[in-house]
Amino acid sequence: MSEDKGNPPKDEKKGGEKPSTSRATEFDVEAIRNFLAEKLSLLSSGGGADDEADARRAPKVLEKVDFDGLMQHWKEKGFRNIVTMVGAGISTSAGIPDFRSPDTGLYSNLQKYNLPHPTAIFELDYFMDNPQPFFTLAKELYPGTFKPTPCHYFVKLLHDKGWLRRHYTQNIDTLERIAGIPGEKMVEAHGTFFTNHCLGCRKAFTMEWMKEEIFSDRVPTCSSCNGIVKPDIVFFGENLPMEFYELPQKDFRDCDLLIIMGTSLEVQPFASLPDKVNDTCVRLLVNRELVGNRDTIWSLFTRSSAGKMEFGMPESRRDVAWLGDCDDGVQAIADQLGFGDELRDLVKREHARIDAESTEEPKKPAQPSKEPKKETSEPPKESKEAEKGKTD
Ligand SMILES: [Zn+2]
Repeated sequence: MSEDKGNPPKDEKKGGEKPSTSRATEFDVEAIRNFLAEKLSLLSSGGGADDEADARRAPKVLEKVDFDGLMQHWKEKGFRNIVTMVGAGISTSAGIPDFRSPDTGLYSNLQKYNLPHPTAIFELDYFMDNPQPFFTLAKELYPGTFKPTPCHYFVKLLHDKGWLRRHYTQNIDTLERIAGIPGEKMVEAHGTFFTNHCLGCRKAFTMEWMKEEIFSDRVPTCSSCNGIVKPDIVFFGENLPMEFYELPQKDFRDCDLLIIMGTSLEVQPFASLPDKVNDTCVRLLVNRELVGNRDTIWSLFTRSSAGKMEFGMPESRRDVAWLGDCDDGVQAIADQLGFGDELRDLVKREHARIDAESTEEPKKPAQPSKEPKKETSEPPKESKEAEKGKTD
């Protein structure tokens, strides 16, 4: 922290200067923390700190609380109600930009539109008055191909094996659907580009139709009422999809394994879903870095911003982290469980199919969908020239 190496300490305390003092301080903090946890668990009713205190009293779920221990448990006892929760990290190897992240530079050539602020482009009120900037951005960011990653196919295999309870995704890129995960098995928490609705009469339009409109530089308008047609991605000022409010309670109560992949767990209310699991649910994080852990005394009080998990912590009794690229993580899991080759073959086969479809007709992008879908009526046909949609 301090950079003034040569200078003698001033009046502020320096960590590490006197080991005994700092140990004592740590101990005090821990004692206060435990005291508060105890107190709060007596006083509060449900959720929050009492969960955590309970968790500490509860028995271990895994014999060995690490990746191998979890895999051993999976092989011996199995999981039948797996919930997966994912974010942009599972789509990055597919070359999909994080649509809403300000870091991707996607706001840079929107200056000509004089947005009141960059995120206005995703605000419903602004969109209703001035939809063009959004569609310009959508055209710019439209992926050249839609090729799901091993993570998507891993979840598809969990479903095929009858183990998947539900897949919760923050991604709007439709890759889950392309990988063949059925719509009813998913909660697309931030919506999807897969379906589109008229803001006036709610008439549904296909993704292919929307793509044609976007690439023709038209503001998509409804054939029935002339209203603006908007992709069903969740804008600021809109509610999350109904399923997000209806399904988690039961899904997370019954869930026996929660797999969290490729998310920073920072966006609420999605980020607090892992807190809803029952007391014996095992939680596995597959991610580049640790996220969602309780880490400070403040996590006792700030329920909304800090997680309650204990990935990699000595006291963890059911939280296990696998750190690295998500694609490698799911392959490691599949290998351990004996379906590693099945996953590899599926990825290879599906990617070959998508490549073949995208070269069949040079003007055409990879078919975004072969999947049965929920709301829209007919299967997407063809569309033109998507080469320009690629961002790099
Ligand atoms: Zn309409």
